[in-house]
Amino acid sequence: MSAQPAPKVVCSTCEAVCCRLTVLLEESDRIPGHLTARTAHGLLVMARDDEGWCVAIDHNSMRCSIYDDRPSTCRRFVMSGPYCRDVRKTYEKQVQAGIPLTLY
Ligand code: SF4
Ligand code: SF4
Repeated sequence: MSAQPAPKVVCSTCEAVCCRLTVLLEESDRIPGHLTARTAHGLLVMARDDEGWCVAIDHNSMRCSIYDDRPSTCRRFVMSGPYCRDVRKTYEKQVQAGIPLTLY
C-alpha cells in the first residue's frame, strides 16, 4: 500500500501560526518603533498583542501588514519546512484540547 501524501501546508490556509513566535530583530531590519518591544533580557523583538500574535498581523486577513518590509527572521522562515510544520502541530493540539494558547 502506498503512503498517503503529507497534507499540503500553505500560508494562505494557515492561521499565521508562525506569527506567534518570538521574532528577534536584526540591525538591518527597519521596523517602526511602535511595532517593537524589548525582552526582559533587553533583546529587540517584534511586539505581540494580548492574544500572542505579532502586532504587525492584520487580524482580518491574518496576513502580515508589513510584508515587503518584514524582518529578516520572517523572510528566512520556510513555508512547509520542519519548523513550520512543528509549530502548526503544536498549535492544532492546543486548539483541539481547548488549552489556552501560550506564547512561545
Ligand atoms: S510559514 Fe507555515 S506557520 Fe507560517 S503562515 Fe505559512 S504555513 Fe503557517
Ligand atoms: S512581521 Fe509579519 S511575517 Fe513577521 S511575525 Fe510579524 S506579522 Fe508575521
